[in-house]
Amino acid sequence: MFHIAIDGPGGAGKSTIAKAVAKKLDILYVDTGALYRTVGLFVKQNGVDPKDSEGVGALLPKLSIEVKYENGAQVVYLNGVNYGDAIRTPEMSMYASAVSAIPSVREFLLEAQKEIARHNSVIMDGRDIGTVILPDADVKIFLTASPECRAQRRYKELCERGQSVRYEDVLAEMNSRDNADSSREIAPTKAADDAVLLDNSDLTLEESVAAVIAIAKEKVGGEIRE
Ligand code: C5P
Repeated sequence: MFHIAIDGPGGAGKSTIAKAVAKKLDILYVDTGALYRTVGLFVKQNGVDPKDSEGVGALLPKLSIEVKYENGAQVVYLNGVNYGDAIRTPEMSMYASAVSAIPSVREFLLEAQKEIARHNSVIMDGRDIGTVILPDADVKIFLTASPECRAQRRYKELCERGQSVRYEDVLAEMNSRDNADSSREIAPTKAADDAVLLDNSDLTLEESVAAVIAIAKEKVGGEIRE
């Protein structure tokens, strides 16, 4: 069993790359951002301000989050319901970012994330995987790219999902979320001391996937088979 942690800001391609690596190595891909997005959705459904830590904390006992794998893909159930792409909107990105700065929310999601890794080889992406969730991960990568490059990718992804957004708004939203995520007190976006930095501004998806696998092979060796 081995664990690959990928952290970094939004739009660096973490999920697309991690998904492809998981398929090649036949291991689980764990998208931890989806958990914060799901908490954000529940907070919105209940009409609570996502920055109100007491209000959000009071909702947690009413919230059950389950992570399942269906046809090889991660599905998150919120009180038994899979809301699919409803957690992927720019509004939910902001909700996720706001609730993720609340300590009780991070505590609430901690065990579920550790539990998945306890029983499986995984590639897990997020903001605090190498620092908090899997501090003993065999491979830690901090993936980044220039802000413009990341905003372009996120813009393309949202357009492909049929959402009507403006590039300028996506860039502004991304910068504001990056600032919030990296300056917060609890679990800020940060490279672990032993993480390998990978800037993929000038890499294609295939090159990024190959780079991650090469780093993993160097760290884990024989256990990794494509
Ligand atoms: O990765 P994604 O964009 O889906 O994450 C949504 C938000 O959830 C991030 O902006 C961040 O605030 C939060 N998050 C986090 N820790 C993680 C994963 C996501 O705080 N491990």
